[in-house]
Amino acid sequence: MKRGISRRGFLKGSIAGFCLSMLYPFQRGAKGQGNPISPLFWVKNIPLQPFYPGEDDNHHAGVDALFQLMGENGLKFYRSLDETSPLSGPSGMIQSNDIVLIKVNAQWKYRGCTNSDIIRGLVQRILDHPDGFDGEVVIFENGQGRGSLNCDTSSAYGGDTSIHANANNESHSFLYLVNTVFNDPRVSAYLLDPIRDTFIGATDHVTNGYRTYENVSYPCFTTAGGNRVELLDGIWQGNGYIQNLKVINVPVLKYHDTGGSEITASLKHFYGVVSMSDGYSNFRHYNGLGETCGKMVVSVRTPVLNIIDAIWVSFSSLSGYPANTTYQANQILACQDPVALDYWASKYILYPVSNNSHHLPTPGGNIDGWLTNARDIINGRGGLYDPDSGILIETVTKNEQEMLPLIFTFSETVSAPYTPQGVTNGVTGGIYTYVTGGAISETGHPVQYSFDWGDGTNSGWLPVGTTSAKKSWTSVGTYNVRAQARCANHTSFLSSWSEPLSVTISSPPSPPTNVQASDGTYMDKVEVTWEASVMATSYTVDRATSLSRRARKTTLGTTSEAYFNDTTAVPMKTYYYYVKASNLYGTSGFSSYDAGYRSDGRPPPPTNVQASDGASPEWVRVTWTASPEATSYTVYRATSTSRRATKVAIGTTSDTTYDDTTASIGKTYYYWVKASNLDGTSGFSAYDTGYR
Ligand SMILES: [Zn+2]
Repeated sequence: MKRGISRRGFLKGSIAGFCLSMLYPFQRGAKGQGNPISPLFWVKNIPLQPFYPGEDDNHHAGVDALFQLMGENGLKFYRSLDETSPLSGPSGMIQSNDIVLIKVNAQWKYRGCTNSDIIRGLVQRILDHPDGFDGEVVIFENGQGRGSLNCDTSSAYGGDTSIHANANNESHSFLYLVNTVFNDPRVSAYLLDPIRDTFIGATDHVTNGYRTYENVSYPCFTTAGGNRVELLDGIWQGNGYIQNLKVINVPVLKYHDTGGSEITASLKHFYGVVSMSDGYSNFRHYNGLGETCGKMVVSVRTPVLNIIDAIWVSFSSLSGYPANTTYQANQILACQDPVALDYWASKYILYPVSNNSHHLPTPGGNIDGWLTNARDIINGRGGLYDPDSGILIETVTKNEQEMLPLIFTFSETVSAPYTPQGVTNGVTGGIYTYVTGGAISETGHPVQYSFDWGDGTNSGWLPVGTTSAKKSWTSVGTYNVRAQARCANHTSFLSSWSEPLSVTISSPPSPPTNVQASDGTYMDKVEVTWEASVMATSYTVDRATSLSRRARKTTLGTTSEAYFNDTTAVPMKTYYYYVKASNLYGTSGFSSYDAGYRSDGRPPPPTNVQASDGASPEWVRVTWTASPEATSYTVYRATSTSRRATKVAIGTTSDTTYDDTTASIGKTYYYWVKASNLDGTSGFSAYDTGYR
């Protein structure tokens, strides 16, 4: 199936940092002067779900954006006379009959190996060649004895020997891509581990093994599709070589040993193709690293493209494990110049994540050392320019001034949701529902909503299809409720905020305090008074006939004053009065009660009864506060407060003082007073003790 890149329209982005009309990146200098610059193709903010949702589709949004960015800037992925797509042109890299080797990292698994989602997208794009693809794509790796294209290497994973690919679906190992996703005779895999100890001669075109070249080595093997690959020489045809052999180098960007290479990027990754059984292992790990890398790139086989996988960056482990040693950067960076590429990736992708100064290509540091050696070998042997293979770069550089980053950043416009709808005046503790909606992803993807409640909290992202959320504020205030939307498939793409809905949260008043009910003061009522509550506009008075929890409270009435007259009380019956305060926003709970009763005409018992305690040898003086409407008082005395002790009336007076001259000296008595008038006599006052 032929497909253009137009599907890329499902996501769009912006290209930054470069003006085509001023500088064409592949404009060559005069012969021998080298290319003026090394363009770096940098795709950022790749969606978390890079495959088109809902489609069984292998096109990877990041890979597609990369090839689009390259094509728009003169580096065509496809070599074809068909120029209808920006990916395609006569100077391109991949021909329809190429044998394309994709070098992956499969010495490790999990996030220590190359992201297989990228490989899936890359293989699909090769198969999409506009002239029809009838070559072969071979995913290959030399894991030096511990590689696995099934992503089940067992070292350094806490004993876990199961399959863990670096992919959104960890079952998608490289072999899974070949056998299940593509299942196409044009797509195969080759693991070099079993042949790395076999060395063959220059005329052996049958045995799978390695040939040495200077102090490096390169593999020669027959692919599943029957193509005889001899990496330095080309594709063996029985009587000679043809050069339809292309390598695409796809390293995962990560930490490597401190004091060694420090990082793995494109050079160190391609160097992994050599056999460590050739006797130069120690040399090339340290002093010879740059030389080995350079030689592999310039003299064995130049990758037509190096694509650094920085979807997951392992910033402090070689194995990409455990997960907290990895960071999801969602970027890829590609270049035909591996020296510029590794310089840029270390400084601008890995270092900002690791914050490890070993990861900077500082002059004199380890990275600078092998970059310098690789550069000198490559440029010293004439550079990389090979227009027949689509390699347009000439010399390589570690000079940042000679690098040109071309950036594509993904974005997806999601329109703002409408202003939230719901209650605009509420009370603390009230539970209110707010509704929003109307946000649309320009790509038609489902959206999710989130409410900001204006008090420093939010609803979190609601499930797709949910447009409402409940909120309860705890403090009085005015809050701006806003909504935001995001693409549910590409959650980094957010809408702007909706217009705010202003919500005023008020509080119901507190219960009234200091409730007082009159105790027989009036014959026509019980007067209930209280202290006004802040912000209250009205009060409701209830009464009960007992304090039992089951006693029913009866509402007597409502007033805006701070008192209420209960004219329905039965005289001499004790009631318990409660008051609630209200305003627009609600009603308080009940106040504390006070007991009160209505007089039947008799005066209320005297209050504040006091008996003297040894003040005089002649008497015990009893005093009290006058009761309203009383005309006389009778004083009672007992020798205990026991219920059976007899209260003896010892005298009557119209005054509020009585001297008991009959008390025995030194003996303690209990004194009560009753008040009387023409309507009758009150009950006993509270007692007080006294002695003569
Ligand atoms: Zn989306």
